[in-house]
Amino acid sequence: MKKEIIDMDGVKFPVYSLNTLIIGSGASGLNAAIHLWERGQKDIAIATDCWGGGTSNNAGSDKQTYYKLSLSSESPDSPLQMAQDLFAGGCMHGDIALCEAQNSLEAFFHLVRLGVPFPHNQYGAYVGYKTDHDPLGRGTSAGPLTSHRMFEALAREVKSRGIAVFDGCEVMALLAENKDDETHVIGALALDRNNCDAENLGFIVYNAKNVVLGTGGPAGIYKASVYPESQLGSTGLALAIGTIAHNLTESQYGLASVKFRWNLSGSYQQVIPRYVSTEKDGSDLREFLNDYFPDMGRLATAIFLKGYQWPFDPRKIGDFGSSLIDILVYQESVLRGRRVFLDFTRNPSGGGILSDFSFDLLGEEASQYLQNSDALYDTPIERLQAMNQPAIDLYRDHGIDIGKESLEIAVCAQHNNGGLKGNIWWESNIRHLFPVGEVNGTHGVYRPGGSALNSGQVGSMRAAMFISRRYSSEPPSLNRFLSAARAQIREKFVFARTLIDAKVTDGSDIPTQREKIQERMSACGAHVRGLAKVKEAIAEGWQLYRELQNTVKIATPQELPEAFKNLDLCLTHVLYLEAIGEYLEKGGRSRGSFLVLDPEGKKPCDQLGENWRFGLNRVDSFVNTKILEISLDANMTVRKNWVNIRPIPQAEVWFETVWKNYINDKIIK
Ligand SMILES: Cc1cc2nc3c(=O)[nH]c(=O)nc-3n(C[C@H](O)[C@H](O)[C@H](O)COP(=O)(O)OP(=O)(O)OC[C@H]3O[C@@H](n4cnc5c(N)ncnc54)[C@H](O)[C@@H]3O)c2cc1C
Repeated sequence: MKKEIIDMDGVKFPVYSLNTLIIGSGASGLNAAIHLWERGQKDIAIATDCWGGGTSNNAGSDKQTYYKLSLSSESPDSPLQMAQDLFAGGCMHGDIALCEAQNSLEAFFHLVRLGVPFPHNQYGAYVGYKTDHDPLGRGTSAGPLTSHRMFEALAREVKSRGIAVFDGCEVMALLAENKDDETHVIGALALDRNNCDAENLGFIVYNAKNVVLGTGGPAGIYKASVYPESQLGSTGLALAIGTIAHNLTESQYGLASVKFRWNLSGSYQQVIPRYVSTEKDGSDLREFLNDYFPDMGRLATAIFLKGYQWPFDPRKIGDFGSSLIDILVYQESVLRGRRVFLDFTRNPSGGGILSDFSFDLLGEEASQYLQNSDALYDTPIERLQAMNQPAIDLYRDHGIDIGKESLEIAVCAQHNNGGLKGNIWWESNIRHLFPVGEVNGTHGVYRPGGSALNSGQVGSMRAAMFISRRYSSEPPSLNRFLSAARAQIREKFVFARTLIDAKVTDGSDIPTQREKIQERMSACGAHVRGLAKVKEAIAEGWQLYRELQNTVKIATPQELPEAFKNLDLCLTHVLYLEAIGEYLEKGGRSRGSFLVLDPEGKKPCDQLGENWRFGLNRVDSFVNTKILEISLDANMTVRKNWVNIRPIPQAEVWFETVWKNYINDKIIK
């Protein structure tokens, strides 16, 4: 990596020239860096807004899962079978499914070699268990903090190899150039958070042959979110230069605690806690679920099942299914303005037509499970102590004693199945730009639990393979780079300067603007959707985007990173809403992890109002047989395109043929 200083209109800027810039230090960005290094490409650097920030290092769950080909001696598996299971989730391209299946073991053992403690038995079998949408027990786990353990191991490796890291470096634009009717990424612009009050406002310029974008999911567009606070996402960086995104309609939502953000899945629900709600001031405590369930047996069983069936799923609402609980929590908290809590100190109590909780009212699966777990104790907290003491310790480590204090909860955004589009080497339609990890939306409507972490590792490894083989040359000379990038750098710098206005004395509007984005998304673009509201939200979203570009002011340069982040989040949320609007216009109904309100549909249960009617998509409906792509053209006009779903390819498997192609360098292309 070479550093040079340029002078533009009397202001000096550092320019770093290198082969590959990796943006983000989550599990996927770090993995890309290590694989590049291992394959001989050492002219690389990682730019991250916060080393240790992001989802991988800071999120987890009851038993955080990594999905890979089964290695248990008792269950036969094959990459094709795994690809078929990934593909069966709907709206996922078959070639991507095959890559994720085929490469899952290589990616997994890379992590094992780096020291991630995935358990194996005395004969070396990395045994697994069944996760959601998984027929074969392909899930494995290094405990509640699997992705954190991955971050630790990968970060250790990055440091030990001496890979350059720009910490506190917020990338706020990608630089691009048109060549032969295609757009190429040529570098990036960042703000050094610790140097914004310098004359150059902390601008750092990167002249890079390739950019690997590992910026994670767009967490910052949601108010109700179980992503860690440090994760906001930067999908807008890529959207702004015309990168195609797809499946933006598909995200996962579910119940999580809000004071300390954590998924309430697995044993937190299997011990059957009591759900209560209160007024904002804590008065009028009620067990609100009792009004909707016909008997305690079905209520307690639905709570238990929430453990296995964590993401909200409109197919699991009917007949007092577990996802009815998400709707009731949403109604109580968002629509009625009350607060909802999980109370582990007491069992659900009856009242009205409901009897008090007792084990003999439970369904067969639930009662057998608690019996097998030796957890037939009197209260939920005692059952949790018996089944999973670390689940209690985890909250204690964050200052919450769930043996005494109830947990405030909400239905929260957790993961984005869709995102930027890549090919089988994870390169986007913008040449040399490789979105990896959650920002690359490889998944379809449903995905097996754990496949996000696998996808992040496989994708970053394949991007590194491609770059090191095909795009390994040096970056262009400074002069050549500046001839394409100078105007873009100048435009951003002038914009940054005009944002700062010393007359702003009563605090900037940055928090209010962000709240508007987040509230709009959680109200209209999350797990409950309707066309009229989405259309309004799109118009309001674009209006805010224009304001952020034209009229917003900040008091000091230190606020620049947040001002640019708001622009990014605003653009991101509008394109998500545009995709949702398009899906609804095409007659799309409920699927995946969202409910589409529909007056012609069925009520979730008799006691809920008419406005809750909804219907499910038919399997052969238009929206289920195509994938919606969305992007911005050079005039910022939104382009929407429904494309066919690519089937799983018939890959060449004849050894002599593959060998010949391999030695003739015809594989990576
Ligand atoms: C509660 C929870 C539980 C989960 N459980 C599972 C599970 O069991 N199994 C599973 O497979 N998946 C799970 N996931 C999803 C999975 O953890 C994530 O998809 C994955 O960790 C994302 O990794 P990543 O590397 O893509 O992004 P992240 O780990 O989010 O990293 C993004 C990085 O980019 C940086 N960054 C962002 N923007 C910029 C910018 N402009 N400039 C510089 N740096 C930037 C961030 O600081 C961060 O370092 C879970 C997610 C959550 C929230």
